[in-house]
Amino acid sequence: MFSKILIANRGEIAVRIIRACREMGISTVAVYSQADKDALHVSMADESYCIGGPQVADSYLNMAAILEAAVVSGAQAIHPGYGLLSENAKFVSLCEKCNIQFIGPSAEMIERLGDKDEARKTMRAAGVPVTPGSDVIDDIDEARANAAAIGFPLLVKARSGGGGRGIRRVDRIEDFDNAFLAAKAEAQSAFGDGAVYMEKFITPVKHIEMQLLCDKYGNVVCLGERECSVQRKNQKLIEECPSPAITPELRQNMMAAAVKAAKAVNYENAGTVEFLLDQDKNFYFMEMNTRLQVEHPVTEMVVGIDIVQWMIRIASGAKLTITQDRVYMHGNAIECRINAEDPDNQFRPSCGTLDFIHIPGGPCVRFDTAIYQDYQVPPYYDSMIGKLIVQARSRELAIRKMKMALSELTINGIRHNRNLHIDILSDPVFVSGEYTTGFMEERQKKANKKKTKG
Ligand code: ADP
Ligand code: ADP
Ligand code: MG
Repeated sequence: MFSKILIANRGEIAVRIIRACREMGISTVAVYSQADKDALHVSMADESYCIGGPQVADSYLNMAAILEAAVVSGAQAIHPGYGLLSENAKFVSLCEKCNIQFIGPSAEMIERLGDKDEARKTMRAAGVPVTPGSDVIDDIDEARANAAAIGFPLLVKARSGGGGRGIRRVDRIEDFDNAFLAAKAEAQSAFGDGAVYMEKFITPVKHIEMQLLCDKYGNVVCLGERECSVQRKNQKLIEECPSPAITPELRQNMMAAAVKAAKAVNYENAGTVEFLLDQDKNFYFMEMNTRLQVEHPVTEMVVGIDIVQWMIRIASGAKLTITQDRVYMHGNAIECRINAEDPDNQFRPSCGTLDFIHIPGGPCVRFDTAIYQDYQVPPYYDSMIGKLIVQARSRELAIRKMKMALSELTINGIRHNRNLHIDILSDPVFVSGEYTTGFMEERQKKANKKKTKG
């Protein structure tokens, strides 16, 4: 087992990983930008190193500075968290060269699965159902012909896209040429890779993903699903485990497909297979995320397994001692992402000093965050400032508990989306469990109609 781990991230996930290390008796090394000198992850870690300026390009994406901190501190491993360098194959291969264990899959695996086009081909070959669509196409005439065959609406997707970006919907053949060229240009500037492919736009649809843990010896367990259909601009807002739409039989089938996907590539460490689930309960592979997921706590609360601790154990060469028949799902968990943004003003990011905060508590209430009283939310980073997670015996009780916890949550000094979450949890469509990825947009449309009428 490692005795010292460097955490190459910030915010709530850095704090989350430090907690896991502490519980395991492992020393921690934090890295931080100049804007984060007063951040919680810095004061919680045993050691810390400033790695550059406030912009992520200068600090949290600064591979040389991070590796230097690892070498100087004598850290044996690096946990990347999510986002930032977590799916950066170049960083992983640099870790390998510096003899530092990256806590996650190999550089080769990340490259292979991060290329959405190649991942689709691999999964299709392995017999995992894949969203209908095309391979990467460069030629616009060929693309148009393929688009007509796929049918509209469709999505043009960047092969190297992520974080909800690099996706463009096209509704009519007349709009195709412009959309295709714009998508390519966008992908080139955002990801340094202009390659795009097409997928049939499936609607209405649910986003259901499967959590996997895989050790170095070919053992794979699936910790069940998360329902992530409450999304705004392709970014998740509320997640739950289990999904209200899944029967035990469908769960078995989707879990088997996820395990097949992992085994097809000899996957190692924690990973998530994202599926689309259509109205007729057909499911399609969308992508595999080769990292810890933002919403991992809902799974942890329901199955009682610490995913971050397992990532560390697996990276150190330990064997999985969890077997599939011993994975039990207890009750229901829900997560609300608390974002520093203004729902009344086009979700514009909000920053400033938190002059008062109160964090809810009580049985089975968890708030993963790095904020504290008088903390200054900096303008440079992701707007998510915390995740409120609850677990209860049934979905109905979990919704009730979440509403209570949200109403207790107090964060003064910035704009945030707490009240939006309270509204969503009372929305009959959410309560029915039948919501799909179009849910937030439909809500917005209804609200706009009301406004113009009233
Ligand atoms: P997950 O799939 O784990 O729920 P998301 O897909 O929402 O998480 O985001 C994945 C990662 O991409 C997150 O770590 C997040 O910080 C990052 N990310 C999300 N949105 C953006 C964005 N607009 N620009 C850059 N990175 C983003
Ligand atoms: P990212 O890598 O940015 O997470 P994904 O390919 O996972 O991109 O897609 C992000 C979201 O977009 C999904 O969670 C889903 O809501 C929606 N989406 C993606 N592909 C399709 C599709 N073919 N049909 C309908 N919705 C889709
Ligand atoms: Mg995704």
